[in-house]
Amino acid sequence: MAEELSNFSQLKLQNWIVKQCHSIGVKRPTPIQANCIPKILEGKTCIGAAKTGSGKTLAFALPIVQKLYEDPYGIYALVLTPIRELAFQIADQFAILGKPMNMRTCVVVGGMDMVEQGRQLSKVPHVVVATPGHLVDHLEGCDTFTLSRIKFLVIDEADRLLGGLFDDQIKRIFSVLPKTRQSIYFSATMTDTLQTLKKLVAEDAFFYEDIGPS
Ligand code: ADP
Ligand code: MG
Repeated sequence: MAEELSNFSQLKLQNWIVKQCHSIGVKRPTPIQANCIPKILEGKTCIGAAKTGSGKTLAFALPIVQKLYEDPYGIYALVLTPIRELAFQIADQFAILGKPMNMRTCVVVGGMDMVEQGRQLSKVPHVVVATPGHLVDHLEGCDTFTLSRIKFLVIDEADRLLGGLFDDQIKRIFSVLPKTRQSIYFSATMTDTLQTLKKLVAEDAFFYEDIGPS
């Protein structure tokens, strides 16, 4: 049953994170945030579907920032998204939320200087936000770049990233990620691939669906 909560402190988020939310004008969690944030903080795999504009970015970014604060070691989270503009938006949100803890983010997308991207990655960012094709280029082109310490994998826009053109790249990325990672899948629609995924993930995974009329 969807839970409605009136503020972020009820979601087991630390005060400084709640303050960061207030500083960007975000006071009350949206339903997907109220439902998924506590489950992600508990360490559960999460598959969430809710239409565009429902606040999916903060639903994964807030619990990841909190976990990162508790254990700031190594490249921590990988967020995959299908288009470069979304990658920049997501990285911006992480940077704003994580400012008090000097969050380092790196965007890996097309149209950027590969040398500069390599330099950013060598600084061991906490969060890498990437489009799949360019991340694969980096994995194959750079010996020192590793995703072996990733603790969180976020598949944003999962309806567009899974079960289509990106499959080969995603498979390649999955093959170098640690098996013990926590996975979060967020989507604007419920697709056949996501339904299949529901059957494949851990039994105690958390599912949230609120597609509603568009
Ligand atoms: P989605 O990924 O579900 O399409 P976004 O995460 O991009 O949605 O959020 C859409 C907009 O809503 C953004 O401008 C974001 O800053 C804003 N937003 C997210 N959560 C909240 C909230 N709890 N209260 C107010 N605005 C929010
Ligand atoms: Mg989104």
